[in-house]
Amino acid sequence: MSSHIMPTYGRLPISFERGEGVWLWDQSNIRYLDALSGIAVCNLGHAHPAVHQAICEQSKKLLHTSNLYGIASQEALADKLIEKSAMENVFFCNSGAEANEAAIKISRLYGHQKGIDNPCILVMEKSFHGRTLATLSATGNPKVQEGFSPLVDGFIHIPYNDIDAVDSAIKKYSNIVAILVEPIQGEGGVHIPAPNYLNRIRNLCDQHDLLMMLDEIQTGIGRTGKFLAYQHNSIIPDVCTLAKALGNGVPIGACLARGKAAKLLTAGKHGSTFGGNPLACSAALAVLNTLDEYNIIEHVEAKGSEICAGFIGRLKDNTAVSNIRNKGLMIGIDLAFPCVEIVKMAQENGLLINVTANSTIRLLPPLIIDSEQIELLTEKLSVIIDEFTTRYK
Ligand SMILES: *Cc1c(COP(=O)(O)O)cnc(C)c1O
Repeated sequence: MSSHIMPTYGRLPISFERGEGVWLWDQSNIRYLDALSGIAVCNLGHAHPAVHQAICEQSKKLLHTSNLYGIASQEALADKLIEKSAMENVFFCNSGAEANEAAIKISRLYGHQKGIDNPCILVMEKSFHGRTLATLSATGNPKVQEGFSPLVDGFIHIPYNDIDAVDSAIKKYSNIVAILVEPIQGEGGVHIPAPNYLNRIRNLCDQHDLLMMLDEIQTGIGRTGKFLAYQHNSIIPDVCTLAKALGNGVPIGACLARGKAAKLLTAGKHGSTFGGNPLACSAALAVLNTLDEYNIIEHVEAKGSEICAGFIGRLKDNTAVSNIRNKGLMIGIDLAFPCVEIVKMAQENGLLINVTANSTIRLLPPLIIDSEQIELLTEKLSVIIDEFTTRYK
């Protein structure tokens, strides 16, 4: 590994040369089943032909002009996103953190419009919203913030999945203008809230005239079994942020807004050189069209249940496995003790997984994973978990 790269990631000593579907091949041509999808990015799997074709064709015509001009693929992508989300308009950027920055700026404008000089956003403990200064200030993880003070002001952290905490914070602070929350906490450890949590937040936001802002950067684009996770709750937020799987690996982020929130970012208030460029938008359009054309999201819930049932069946006698849960293909397996080392064991056995929050195995396989691959994943990983827990018990 090059020593000229800043050591911001603890990297495994492995790199991949090519991929196809759920499979990746390393430089020694060893094959791995990818149960992480580059952290919920390659939802259609690797080297998807539709994405490949869209990028090739667009790159023959145009890569970039500028947001000073109209961009046909950006307009087409916006239309498609709005149709699928029931939101109203969209600002395009290049990453998740940037999408959340746009959301944060919208809520500040919203507060000032209401005459609140020091607008505050309610955010959750154990949340993750990105690594820029504002988004790491919003993030509910002291490790992410350590060393970066002074943090950006205007965030109040409360426990996740605790509607009473939301209610009392709103009553306590008169300057709250928005609530920013993940429908399921991904980085925080695959925390799935009570089924009506988002509905109750929606009600409180309506009651108190606050913006409901959902960070769907990890949960969006079919991951949980609906195009967007809030569609399980039959609600619509005021702001919704996307990135990760939107381009299946081509960097693109989006901040969707509706109603009052859709009218605030006017000319001169925000911008991005690359945001919504022809290449990224063509790739994202191909992603959304492919999801629709092959009804891929329709099968996500069944696949998630199949995986969970597979693990529950095989691991039921392992007392070191304390919980197995999922929403669609967002899967968490809690062990009774820290298990970061299991990532390496899995890799040595041809399986790519991830551990978050120290003791939660997180699986985010491509949505196109098939039954045979599911069988392989659950069989192989269960053996590895059993081996790991006997070794470290
Ligand atoms: C990954 C992620 C982000 C940050 O996205 P980047 O593209 O890395 O900036 C923000 N929020 C959530 C929920 C995420 O999972």
